[in-house]
Amino acid sequence: MDYITKPQPMTTENQRKMIFSLQDAYPALRVRTVGRSLCDRPIYALEIGRSADPLLIAGGTHGQEWLTCLLALRFAEALLRAQAENGLLWLAQGRSVTRSVLIVPCVNPDGVEIALRGPEAAGDYAPLVASLLAGSPDDWNANARGVDINHNFDANWEALRELEIDSGITGPAPRRYGGATPESEPETQAMVALCNARLPRMLIALHSQGREIFWRYSERLPPDSRALAELFSAASGYKLSDNADSLPSAASRIGSSPRSTSRAIPLRSGWGGIRCR
Ligand SMILES: [Zn+2]
Repeated sequence: MDYITKPQPMTTENQRKMIFSLQDAYPALRVRTVGRSLCDRPIYALEIGRSADPLLIAGGTHGQEWLTCLLALRFAEALLRAQAENGLLWLAQGRSVTRSVLIVPCVNPDGVEIALRGPEAAGDYAPLVASLLAGSPDDWNANARGVDINHNFDANWEALRELEIDSGITGPAPRRYGGATPESEPETQAMVALCNARLPRMLIALHSQGREIFWRYSERLPPDSRALAELFSAASGYKLSDNADSLPSAASRIGSSPRSTSRAIPLRSGWGGIRCR
């Protein structure tokens, strides 16, 4: 079966071409820009179906994990194809489900470009990125200012900061620095604004972590999180991680943010073998 979303490096330009090719092929797809990165790259959201409380899927939070952008876009294509062929978005246990799906394929487009192309992809921030990179650019996870978006949400930010300092991370870095203040970065702000505007019923953040599902973070745990995580585990074969604190997720942080009114359910899926924190 031929797909529009073919494997290729997930530069902003390649993603843009894929997204608008999908829109050409499937006019039901709605595409908007929900924010812009520090280097002014667009942060796209794709919406399939119409409902008040969508499922939100986010990829590309970490630069080196750009494969998750392709995964999110391929999932969008699979849904669009099912909708075009069957008139249904999806079926669950024999019943059609009408909830819409909102997909942000790349939360951190600058980080992805840096991981793919090196410091020159960071524009005005190129000297900073070059000074922070000790090894290969494909180890880069942060945004162009050396802030890890996954650590920048206003969800136990202070406690996380202490863990960062314990690890020797006290300022901009390729990974795991949470920023000077919570939600300091435009990429984080875009996701928080999107969640507060759309109140997603469930949130899934895609990371490359090694076939694990991180389903809990902090004390704010919606009651059906465990059951949902078990459903995902049964479908994917990925194991559940009960680690609630040391490896938290973007999804759970957005859902745990005191400023968020989202009913988001913390759940994180991991693909591939790349370690991330
Ligand atoms: Zn990650």
